[in-house]
Parts: sequence; structure tokens; C-alpha cells
Amino acid sequence: MNKLFTPGPVEVVPEVLKQMAKPMIHHRGKEFAELLTNCVEGLKKLMYTENNVFISTSSSTGLMEAAIRNCVKDRCLNIANGAFGERWHEITVANGKKADLLQIEWGKGVMPDLVDKKLNENEYDTVTLVHNETSTAVCNPIYEISEVIKNHDVCFLVDAVSSMGGIKIEVDKLGIDVCLFGSQKALALPPGLSACSVSEKAMERAKTVPGRGFYFDFLVFQKYWLKKQTPTTPALSQMNALNYQLNRIFKEGLEKRFERHKKMAETTRKWAKDNFEPFAEEKYASNTLTCVSNSKNVNVEDMISKLKQRGYQISNGYGKLKNKTFRIGHMGDITIGEVKELLNNMDEILAVI
Ligand code: PLP
Repeated sequence: MNKLFTPGPVEVVPEVLKQMAKPMIHHRGKEFAELLTNCVEGLKKLMYTENNVFISTSSSTGLMEAAIRNCVKDRCLNIANGAFGERWHEITVANGKKADLLQIEWGKGVMPDLVDKKLNENEYDTVTLVHNETSTAVCNPIYEISEVIKNHDVCFLVDAVSSMGGIKIEVDKLGIDVCLFGSQKALALPPGLSACSVSEKAMERAKTVPGRGFYFDFLVFQKYWLKKQTPTTPALSQMNALNYQLNRIFKEGLEKRFERHKKMAETTRKWAKDNFEPFAEEKYASNTLTCVSNSKNVNVEDMISKLKQRGYQISNGYGKLKNKTFRIGHMGDITIGEVKELLNNMDEILAVI
């Protein structure tokens, strides 16, 4: 079995996996109400928010679609500096909404003044942003961007899929209306579950937006939350793992967890600089994964398969960056020692290929 240094799914520790084997409970009873409440309270703490938090039996893409269907009224601005930013645009268009794409070079950070300029050009009611672009390992300057967004009357939808739990995101301070993420990245849980915070502004907006669909209607989510239930059968095993893992995360301490991610990133980036070149602009390099430019033109597939023979898995570049880059995930519960062990193995492989 390979140790995963992929940018999701990531390694899940055995004690968390064990939670998935707990006997089932019924989801319309007291025990479930307690489980749901604990999960939601924990997620609020993780996200630094007092907003509604909904848990969804879907991957994160489901909640991206939910955010668009519930919040976009007339016109949306999709900001993209990578594949997942472009995915926001595809989802917006696929849901029949009017949308413009602000395309920024892959590898570069999103600059707040550009966002401001674009928002002044048209009557937008919604803006989408990917906080941490998993395709390029760019972490956008969300604190600066949010200052600009606050000057416009828009719903601010943020994909924090590969950063939540590894990088600090203070949802309320940033004025994020919908902040979404999945279980299989920095939270170090198995895939299959996602969650999002939804502000009062976004809830009010949803009331005015027709065609919210059935499965992902925020108003229905809220109606059931008031009864401490979910509208449809929840992923109980995943929620047991989430509840347990949130407690482990708080035991480590959020600040310590963010610091550990920073250290793992610094070590990996140094390795990338010594051996290749990091793909992302240095100032905006992510703390949860590193995208490495294949500046030495090595056979990436061969390197990955040799690593697998040693029991480690990393990822090739995403989409158009395949073979031109490769990505090392350093998120979740892995340690700096494990990252060093991976990099030592990569050194040994690179010495002979
Ligand atoms: N957004 C980002 C930044 C991602 O990294 C991913 C998956 O890697 C997604 C969205 C989509 O997540 P999922 O495949 O879990 O729906």
C-alpha cells in the first residue's frame, strides 16, 4: 500500500478509519441530532464562523453547484487562475446563469485591484474564487481580495477545498458568503463528504433565486437543520469519522496545525528549488501542496512509478500541466518527518534517472 502524498485523497490515520466501522444509527433520532450538532459546532470553530454550516453527502463539486444555484441571480464573475477556478465558470454556465470569466495566468496569484476593476465593469451579484488552486499550488491572497469584495454588493463564494483545515480561513472576518470544502484533503478524512458555511446574506439571496433544484437547496438544508436533521439520508460513517477527527484537530490546536503545514511546505519548496523550480509565484505558494515545474525534463511518469515501488505516491501535473509539472501534497495529518522521508526517496530516484 502506498503512503499518499497526493493533493487529495490523503492518508487517514487508523483510529479515524476505525470510526467508519461503527454500527449504524437511525438518522431521524436523538443520537443523530447529537452527532450532527457536534459536527456542525466543530466545523464552525474550524471555519471561524457563526454562519449556518451545512454538511452534504456529496463531494465538493456538489456544493460548488449548490452555491451557484442558490446565490447567482443575474450575473456572476468567476475568477480563475487554474483548473478549479475554471470549473466554477463551467458550473455557472451549465446551470444557465450569465457569467464572465476573469482569466489569470496559471501559477500567478489573483490581484485584488484586478478584481475591483472587473467588478466595476458590470452589474455582478456574485463572485467565485478558489482560495487554494490545487492545479497550480497557488494560494490566493484572500484577506486582500476580501477587502475589495466588501466594497461591492455581491455574494462571495469561496472554494476552500484544499486549504480548509491546513491554512487559516476566518470566514466571518473575510465576509465569505459561502465557503465550501471536502473531507479528503487537509481534514484527512476519507472522500465522500463536504461542508459549507452559508451567510444570512446568501440565505436571503436564495429566497429570491428560482430554480435552486431539489438536492442542494440551502433553504431546505436550513429547514432540516432546525430539526437537527439532514434532508436526505446522511453519510453516517463519514460523519462519525468527521466528529472524531475534528476533536483530534482541536487537540493538536488549530494554530499548531497551520504552523505544521507551513513547515512542511517550506521544506518541500526548498527541495523544489534545489532540484527543479516551484511552479507557483513564491509570494502565493500554498502551504498544503507544492507544484513543481519539470525544469529538468525528467520522465514524470517514470519517477512516479519508481516512487510507488518504494511505497510513496505523489501526483502528476493537473490537466494541461501533466508531465510539465508534478505535485506533492503535504496536508492533513502527515508529519514533517514523513515529508523528509519522501523527499529523500525522491533524491535517490532522481540520482539514477
Ligand atoms: N476544488 C478544488 C480546489 C479541488 O482541489 C477539488 C478536487 O481536487 C475540487 C474543487 C473538486 O472536489 P471533488 O472532486 O471532491 O468534488
